Amino acid sequence: MDILQHALEQTERENLLRRLVDYIPRDAVHADSEGRQYLMMAANNYLGLTHHPRVRQAAASASLTYGTGSGGSRLTTGNHLLYRQLETTLAAFKRTEAALLFNTGYMANVGIISSLVGKGDVIFSDELNHASIIDGCRLSRGRTVVYGHNNMNQLAELLTNTACSGRRLIVTDGVFSMDGDIARLDDIVRLAHKADALVMVDDAHATGVIGPGGRGTAASFGLEGQVHISMGTLSKSLGSEGGYAAGSQVLIDYLINKARSFIFSTALAPATIAAGLAALNILSEQPELVDQLMANAAFLRKELNQAGFDTCGSTTAILPVMVGDAALAVEFAYLLRKEGIIVSAIRPPTVPAGASRLRVTVSAAHSQAELTKVSQAICTIGRQLGVI
Ligand code: PMP
Repeated sequence: MDILQHALEQTERENLLRRLVDYIPRDAVHADSEGRQYLMMAANNYLGLTHHPRVRQAAASASLTYGTGSGGSRLTTGNHLLYRQLETTLAAFKRTEAALLFNTGYMANVGIISSLVGKGDVIFSDELNHASIIDGCRLSRGRTVVYGHNNMNQLAELLTNTACSGRRLIVTDGVFSMDGDIARLDDIVRLAHKADALVMVDDAHATGVIGPGGRGTAASFGLEGQVHISMGTLSKSLGSEGGYAAGSQVLIDYLINKARSFIFSTALAPATIAAGLAALNILSEQPELVDQLMANAAFLRKELNQAGFDTCGSTTAILPVMVGDAALAVEFAYLLRKEGIIVSAIRPPTVPAGASRLRVTVSAAHSQAELTKVSQAICTIGRQLGVI
């Protein structure tokens, strides 16, 4: 235990220590902590659906009607009829033949990649891909070749020059989780076609955010049907929990049989599934929620850019405010908190050394007045700390 204590002390000296903070959400964008009310600018609740009356009602009714736990894995006794309904709705939303739910987005990435890729196969992975993709690559027995962020010349070169006796898989975040920029999917699909590689896109931060009706990255490029594995989550804009794979029926049948994170874990509770289903139906009925989100994000981005902040080329609801130094990013977030605003300071190892930042996330549920307050606070503190 002394070794652990020393490791923690070292982490603290490097300004990289993480602590859990308790919040009590009041609504989609306000939370209480230690007796004070805060404006939430750090959640991935992009459409505010966690607190939509229909979503809450669906979760409550499912609990009252079906109970609180599923009681088993999907392949044993946990395959509630609600699963089928949500998977059919997800497949229609993503314009694919079929879809399969996992318990989290993390488990989806780990299960999909480790079951599709084995010895002799090669994965081509963007250097800024999410940790769950990285862990999926590690769990597979294939070789992982990392290409520079959105560097299509390097990807082309690696596809040509990397020996591979088996399958090739190119995997990328659709919207990058810490930078908020978008994968160059048109180039990726073209290169994959030439190299006979599979394409997998993680739409965790793209679902409900980009593309017509919020249908995600492939839809935003007009490439629906050309991505072999479309992965996403219900945990961000869809106000619930869970991950999914959408694709061909054969892909889904394969994952049901081979993806260990699907097979060996208890199915999600009925309330979680019902909430996800209600949220997805609301998104389909009210695509204007996506327009509101994008208008809110554009407003805050413009204010920050005009003040001189670098937002890393983001065009989505994730606005990185580049700071550089880890201690400075922590100080920045602390001063914002004193102003009643919750923003995350993102430090290594989540981002590379020297690339620490605030990660500001916008929701359709934020008002213009709230976004103006956030922008003013970030500008004032940014000047005080010498960031701008
Ligand atoms: N992929 C990306 C790009 C993510 O940002 C996240 C979550 N932060 C995940 C996957 C994992 O999703 P979940 O939180 O549902 O496990």
